[in-house]
Amino acid sequence: MWIKCKCGEAIKDTFDSIPYKGRIISDKEFFDLLDIAEEKIKSEDNDRDRLAREFGDVLWGSTPRIRVNFIYQCIECGRIYMEDETGELYGFMPEGHEKCNLLDFKGSGNLKE
Ligand SMILES: [Zn+2]
Repeated sequence: MWIKCKCGEAIKDTFDSIPYKGRIISDKEFFDLLDIAEEKIKSEDNDRDRLAREFGDVLWGSTPRIRVNFIYQCIECGRIYMEDETGELYGFMPEGHEKCNLLDFKGSGNLKE
């Protein structure tokens, strides 16, 4: 999959660990996720693999309990694209800066991989 930015750049989503792609979670969902993690950690269930799978399903299962949306930043113009619950993307332009690597937390340096 790729997104055609309004500046003309193609934002590619074709591999893992993309430095200009992220996931965004609401504050409420984040604290719900922490509660679920705490529940699994404190569980007396000894099947830790099953608990780990159940925790993964909370985020990535067929009916996830926690909503996490994708977010992308164009590495040419800095425009941010954020998806809604349907997967539709909404663009936001930077104001007063030219920073185009806001999602590259570990600073790999090569945003065009
Ligand atoms: Zn762009």
